[in-house]
This record gives sequence, structure tokens and C-alpha cells, in this order.
Amino acid sequence: MEVISRREVLRQIMTEKREQKQRAEGLANEKRLEIAEKVPLYGNLSGTISRILMEANRQVLEHPEMGGEISENAKRQVKDLQKQAEEALAAAGYTRNDLKPKYVCEKCRDTGFVGEPIHEYCSCVKTALMTRLFDQAGIREETFANFRLDIFTEVPEEKSGKSQREVMESYKTYCENYVRDFPDVKKRNLLLHGGTGLGKSFMLNCISAGLLEKGVPVLRLTSYKMLEAMRRTHRGQDDSDFDLMLSCDVLVIDDLGTEPLLDNITLEYLFTLLNERRASGKPTLIATNLSMQELKKRYAERIFSRISDMTETQVLPFVGSDVRLKMR
Ligand SMILES: [Zn+2]
Repeated sequence: MEVISRREVLRQIMTEKREQKQRAEGLANEKRLEIAEKVPLYGNLSGTISRILMEANRQVLEHPEMGGEISENAKRQVKDLQKQAEEALAAAGYTRNDLKPKYVCEKCRDTGFVGEPIHEYCSCVKTALMTRLFDQAGIREETFANFRLDIFTEVPEEKSGKSQREVMESYKTYCENYVRDFPDVKKRNLLLHGGTGLGKSFMLNCISAGLLEKGVPVLRLTSYKMLEAMRRTHRGQDDSDFDLMLSCDVLVIDDLGTEPLLDNITLEYLFTLLNERRASGKPTLIATNLSMQELKKRYAERIFSRISDMTETQVLPFVGSDVRLKMR
């Protein structure tokens, strides 16, 4: 599956981050020069401000015992100048924001790292890594904004008295709220089940796109890909993909139940996966064509109870008629 190694992909991403940072700061620098030239008063004032601050720093080093007083004094002096500088900017049609670098990711300021004192990769790096390793770039195109309720029938179902459209509308609202409130959601896991062509994968993709948009790293894969990674781990070939499934912020498994049941692999690794993610409080979102009874039969009680546990999982049953033709 992987042609180039994970380390190589990560190296590429970090190189890109470095370029993004340089570009953002280079542009901001050009903008600063441009503004200093067009608004000389601003240029003079900011020169004076930095001289005052540098002088204060020098004095603090010389007289550390008077540090508090010196910096208070300097702050008072520059406060008024800063106000004048801002007014000069505004008069020329600029704001302070025009001077700041426009980073692609404000969270890490395009360094690729967050956290003090312990650095870890920023979510923008993790997301880029997952997108490239798992070929999931396409999921960003299926969004709540593109979610069409009009393809679902308004005719009420006999049993529930509700139409497919009403049900889908309430699910859409539920899932939009899930994304909006994430990670402060009541039930962190979602289980979407029901026949084919009822919009489950589309809904999962909308959620994934929404979370990615919020900067939450999402790993989305089909159960078949999931099984391939489990097999590689089981054979001792490569356990990095399975590790990523265990550790990623949000795991999305589509089409659970279509993967083969391999001896000593499928059930064992799926149990480990669900159990460890549950223990570490990490959300897992699943879509499956199987009914609750079929899930229980296929995966047996200990896995089924982890998939369907009502205290942590919101189950959304999809019913009605196939809409795939209408979606085109
Ligand atoms: Zn970042």
C-alpha cells in the first residue's frame, strides 16, 4: 500500500510547513516595509517604540533591582506612542492585523509543533500525515453544506409515522451539533447502521470533513483497509498503521462487516482496537450495513457490547429506500 515510508512523508510535510512559515513571515515583512514607507509617521513611531523598549531592557540588565520600575516606566511611555501609531495606521487604511504573518495554521504558527515544554506534532501535521498515508483527501468534498435532504422521501413510514426525510433531518442536526460541540459531546462514539444506499457513508464523510475543518485529526478508512493493517501487524511486517488507528484522535471505520473474518486476526484485533480506544477516551465512529442482531452474531458479545454501549455510543439506525440514484 505504501510506496514511500511514513518517515519520508512526515519529512515532506515538515519541509512544507517550514516553507509555509517562511512565506507567511516574508510576506508580513514586505507588508511592514511597504507600510513604513507609505505611512512614515507609523515608521517613525514604531522606531521610537523599539528604541525605548531596547533601552529599558539594557537598563534592567544594569540595575536588576529596579527592574519593575523601569519596565513600568517604559510601558507607560510606549502606550501613548502605540496608540498614535495605530491611529496613523488606521488613517492610512491599515490595521495591526496587516502587519502580522498570515500562517496557514495559527495553532502552531506553521512550526508544526505545539506544547510547552514537551513538543508534539500539531494537528495540522497529523491531519496532513493521515490524509497522505490513507488517501482520504476526497472526504473533504462531502460536507453538511452539500447534504441534500430533498432526495429523501416525505412519505411517512408505516411503523414510525415519520418520513425518511424527517429522520435524516434530525440525524443531520445531531451530527452537525456533534461536530460543533466536539470534543465536549455527551456520547463520543457514533454507530450508523442500516441497508446500503441510505446515506451512512455520506454522513460519516460530512462529520469527518467538519472535524478536519475544525483542525481535529481524523483517520478514516474502510474496514477492509483496517483489516489489511491488522494483518500486517499480525505477521510482524509493519505495525505502524495499526498503531495509528489505536492512537489517532478520531477513528472513522466505514463498511464494518464487509471485511473477511480471519482466524486469530479480525475479532482479536478489533477487540483490542475498540477496547484500547475506549480506555483512552478516544472516539470511534462506525458505519455498517449490518443490523444490531447481525453485528452481535458476527462479532460476539464482547465486541458487540463495545460497539453498541449506549452510555458512550449514539446509535443512528438508517431506514427507508435507497437514494443513490437520486444523488447523481
Ligand atoms: Zn499547526
